[in-house]
Amino acid sequence: MASNKFIVPPPRIVDREIVKPLLCGPGPCDYHPSVEKVLSKPVLSPICDEFFNVLDDIRAGLQYVFQTRSKLVLAMSGSGHSGMEAVISNLVGPGETLLIASRGIWDQRAFIIANRYGIKTEVVSVPLDVTFSPEQLEPKLKKLRPTALFITHGDSSTGTVQNLQGLGDLCHKYGTLLLVDTVVSLAGVPFFMDEWGIDGVYTSTQKVFSGPAGISPVAFSARAEAKIKSRKHDPPFYFDMKLLAPQWNCYGSTRTYHHTLSPPLFWALRCCLQEIAKETLPVSWARHAATTARFHKRLREYSFEFLIPKPEDRLATVTTVKLPKGYDYQEFVKYMRAKHNILIFAGLGPTVGKALRIGIMGVNSTTQVADSVAEAMADTLRALKKSSL
Ligand code: PMP
Repeated sequence: MASNKFIVPPPRIVDREIVKPLLCGPGPCDYHPSVEKVLSKPVLSPICDEFFNVLDDIRAGLQYVFQTRSKLVLAMSGSGHSGMEAVISNLVGPGETLLIASRGIWDQRAFIIANRYGIKTEVVSVPLDVTFSPEQLEPKLKKLRPTALFITHGDSSTGTVQNLQGLGDLCHKYGTLLLVDTVVSLAGVPFFMDEWGIDGVYTSTQKVFSGPAGISPVAFSARAEAKIKSRKHDPPFYFDMKLLAPQWNCYGSTRTYHHTLSPPLFWALRCCLQEIAKETLPVSWARHAATTARFHKRLREYSFEFLIPKPEDRLATVTTVKLPKGYDYQEFVKYMRAKHNILIFAGLGPTVGKALRIGIMGVNSTTQVADSVAEAMADTLRALKKSSL
């Protein structure tokens, strides 16, 4: 027995009761019931046939949800930010330029990340309640000829959806790669990676996929692959696609070890993709559009005001709403949880103190949830008026 002294005694870690709310923030979303079941499937080594089959199923499912025939498709071990870091750091080297189309917090994160890698950053901005037109982006692309343009498809901080059609061609005209964040939009609204000419894209599992956080799908176009092959810089070891592609057998007959993959997260992602494939993308998109239309109709009946003025800019998965003067956003969110056990969020980044953010997506995108949340919000509006105005 070693004579070392324990300076920290064993802690008393007690079980606490959790009252799970209905998750209607911009993420995480509730689990799909089938996901809950697969989380306890057997632990597998990352180097065995059973696990290789899981990886193959995931890659096939991801090619479907991203709508790409690209081979370099896999999932990062980490939350959505790991997808962001992987896409940026693999495709843009130190000293190269990343143009950031900024309208919410995720573009600000891309800016911070890129600066840490020694990438030159340039920013083009629009106000938080609108999206970009090609005419706003083209002059910057033409002048800077950046290595890549970063843009967010669905912005969960503002509740906007960016039209991406034509943007790939525009970027390619100036030798620029198009990098897109689809963390809160993929499978909830239409997205066509190959058709829209997107070169680097990432998403996450805790939103529309209705799975656990901690694993982030990424996909790279043929153009992006060429950049990865010819680049002079090395991205971080953990994010390096040159090392991850062989682990995922992206190009056939390589099953090497890079890092230990998390079996429960992989079972969960496989299950999420199985659910999306069963429902099919067009049906999922239509369900999200219909639920949100219903939710918005109910909100209008209760006289709520949308933050985003143009209906075509509003994201189907996350709605942003302004409260009348005198209301406190945090107080509203607290009351929704305390009285209705529904979790919604106040503003984030540019929308702090300016909006409520309500996420109705994935397994929660149903008429029943839309109605319950709208009714609870109307009740909260009435209740807080009496007490605080
Ligand atoms: N992008 C968007 C659009 C998001 O909504 C989020 C998470 N809310 C992220 C990126 C970051 O993802 P994560 O928190 O999983 O790292």
